[in-house]
Amino acid sequence: MDISWDKKFADRVAQACISKFNSLRKTGKPKDKEWTLLACVVKQMQETGDLEVVALGTGSKCLGEKHMNDEGLLVHDSHAEVVARRAFVLYLLDQVENTAKGKPSIMEVAGDKFRIIHGISFHFYSSHTPCGDASIFPKQDWIESVGKAIISTAQQPSFNDDTLRCLNESSDSDVWNKLVTEPVRKKVKTEENDSEVYDEVNKLKDAKNESGINESSNTNSLQKKAHEVNVNVESRHIYVDIYRTGAKCVAGERADPKLSGSNYHVTGVLRTKPGRGDPTLSMSCSDKLFKWSVLGVQGSLLMLFLEAPLYIQTITIGQCPYSHEAMQRALFERFREKLQNVQFPTKYQISTPVLLHSDIHFDFSQCSVDGIGREGSKMMPSPASIIWSSSTHGNKHEVATNGHKQGATTKSLSTPKGSVSICRRSIADRVLGIMMDREYFQEILSHNLTYGDLKLQSQNYYNAWERLKTKVLCNWSVKPKYINLFTVNSSIGKLPG
Ligand SMILES: [Zn+2]
Repeated sequence: MDISWDKKFADRVAQACISKFNSLRKTGKPKDKEWTLLACVVKQMQETGDLEVVALGTGSKCLGEKHMNDEGLLVHDSHAEVVARRAFVLYLLDQVENTAKGKPSIMEVAGDKFRIIHGISFHFYSSHTPCGDASIFPKQDWIESVGKAIISTAQQPSFNDDTLRCLNESSDSDVWNKLVTEPVRKKVKTEENDSEVYDEVNKLKDAKNESGINESSNTNSLQKKAHEVNVNVESRHIYVDIYRTGAKCVAGERADPKLSGSNYHVTGVLRTKPGRGDPTLSMSCSDKLFKWSVLGVQGSLLMLFLEAPLYIQTITIGQCPYSHEAMQRALFERFREKLQNVQFPTKYQISTPVLLHSDIHFDFSQCSVDGIGREGSKMMPSPASIIWSSSTHGNKHEVATNGHKQGATTKSLSTPKGSVSICRRSIADRVLGIMMDREYFQEILSHNLTYGDLKLQSQNYYNAWERLKTKVLCNWSVKPKYINLFTVNSSIGKLPG
């Protein structure tokens, strides 16, 4: 089947992910006044074009540095993208196990490793642009020259691309008519129940009438009044600003000037995740998505079993303020030059997923919830993260808060009972289980291994990561070594003799 990864495809992906989220039980979903982010990995069969969501994550929280010494039981980074990727790792581990046992699987044996069966591709969805570099872009541009006005309604996420256009007009009044009414009128036609849009129309109409702008206005006064009216009506219409990210530049990168308007941020630098209080060492999702586009989305432990890294083919961002240019910059362009002279181990590549944007909106995204404007009540990010993988969880998803299982008793917090299936220890346990059944791992398993030792067994992955870190991601935040020192295999009774 001829498959196009275009806008229509993006809408299908978004719809599939949102439907999957809606089908899950209520527990862990945002409550009243709460918002969250949704991310998924979607499988596509080339033969039929069919899509299937195989991993899903929600969340916007991240633990600070003081939670580091956790024996691998906590999930530090619970941003939806990271949760979805780890849920995808669970899915892939299930597939490896199934293949090894001769059960139905999307993988096949390749020598002493495994590979994805030909004709299957994987696609990433996120309801919002990834935090960090991809989320920094202009809110709108305004050129104050009569006859050439640019209106950008990018700050109103419910507006479609048709309204983001340049109005090059021959007469002043035409500019005004179009600037004030046309994009909004068009929007009203498509979403007649959107009271916010009606309010916007009325405000703009009133402002236009009050300003006394008419056909006979001369150029200068029209310009002046345009300016005044927009200041009065809605300052954002003339305010040249950028969307901001709470993600902080890491040491060694250029720092944000934090000046007004568009001079608040620098672009193209590595950042750690946003958050108040205890600072986090987790890198922003923009940076992590780039890392996955070179090292693969499977991570280091799965590379013990896979013939080649697994790359995502497309990234679809849901309805939210979006800039293709910022996505392109964050995920490829900013590293292009540095990547030129880097040689990666065989089968590693610099993948460039197709970047797509969908108009389909997720009911619990920040912009959807903000748009409701419920009596001035303050909207909050949901503290919970939903974890779901099609093969591991079936109909029963997990919920994490503060990096551990929701509702875990204080006593169980430092035990596997209080942890979720995507914490480092749980994933290591799964990996060890598969290793024990494979002859060529027996020598390694006869030693007492730490989590760090286990990761080092993926030598090609380790080499690729070292090259990427030393040549391209030089200022990537370094986590303290002790966090990888927990023992992973003492429980399986193969301690050194
Ligand atoms: Zn993020």
